[in-house]
Amino acid sequence: MSSSRIVTLSWPEAAAHPPVFPVFLPFSGCPVRCVFCAQDRQTGCAPRQAADALAVAGRQLRERAGRAHPAPELAFYGGTFTALPPEDFAACLTFARMARHEGLICGLRCSTRPDRLATDRLAALREAGCACVELGVQSFADDALHQSRRGYDGETARAACAAVRAAGMRVGVQLMPGMPGSRPARFLEDVRLALELGAACLRFYPCLVLEGTELAARWRAGGFRPWPLSMTLDVLAEALALAQRAGVPVIRMGLAPEAGLTAAVLAGPRHPALGARVQARCLWRQVARLLARARAEGRLGGDAPVRLVLPRRLQGMYRGHAGELAPLWARLGVTPARVRFHEGRREVFVERPDVSDDDAAIPHEGF
Ligand code: SF4
Repeated sequence: MSSSRIVTLSWPEAAAHPPVFPVFLPFSGCPVRCVFCAQDRQTGCAPRQAADALAVAGRQLRERAGRAHPAPELAFYGGTFTALPPEDFAACLTFARMARHEGLICGLRCSTRPDRLATDRLAALREAGCACVELGVQSFADDALHQSRRGYDGETARAACAAVRAAGMRVGVQLMPGMPGSRPARFLEDVRLALELGAACLRFYPCLVLEGTELAARWRAGGFRPWPLSMTLDVLAEALALAQRAGVPVIRMGLAPEAGLTAAVLAGPRHPALGARVQARCLWRQVARLLARARAEGRLGGDAPVRLVLPRRLQGMYRGHAGELAPLWARLGVTPARVRFHEGRREVFVERPDVSDDDAAIPHEGF
């Protein structure tokens, strides 16, 4: 058998990462209640005192260590960590230092707002061993930030990314496609900007209408319409491709399925396999784009047969949720008989099978 490769792309593997041990402090330190936010529902954790949260975390971390589980990375999430009252902020950092000293954790990260990054707080975080600060940027667009009553502008968000990096930590950027005032093109601009600003990781949280938020009231009054799921999947696939080209991981797409969240979702683009669906679409889009270019450049005839060759680890992913992308692959000429797998980890390619190939003799996986 002989064949020639038409297009090749590299499909990144998720980097090995220690488990994350989240300590949720819902709404703690938040100067405003953002219109879309229901942290208590999103995290499955009621608002509580930092001291209580630390007491529980200490017990759970010791139990983990007692069971010889690998030391996790401690993460303070759910509020505005750098705006906690001074005594709570200090207690959390003291706890992190103690836990690290005892070998209960292997690192520290936190999430916070872009407009609450006092220099002394960043220095204290760094000094306590914090490696990454995730910024709930949501958007760099002034209009979207204003409509969501975030209380800061795009310039503040851009400066915040620089400030975290200048303090010697990695910056993670959380974006919210579909928030009030957001448009697909603008969201993709936000992704490009986050990458230009040096984001070490991204999270995409498509905007949902959650019970108990101001957005729920706007939605009920007809003043807000969430993005449809199909459009969200396509836009996220494009955003994922941008991140992949920059070598930056997207570490979360969609809210985690916490207890109580499902009942709180009134509307919006939600699906339990959102991330997998986006990945599959992203792969299809990238292959489709490269094939179109190959055809435009005359490297492949319009109706020439092609064969898709994938790492075996993508076997369950590439055809999408319940095979939803099968028609799209078929449109590219990739029928079930035209798919092969290899044992490598990253390389995806499309090749032109030689006319002497006997496809029927080669094991393949159908849709
Ligand atoms: S979005 Fe962030 S800053 Fe706004 S209320 Fe929720 S946790 Fe607080």
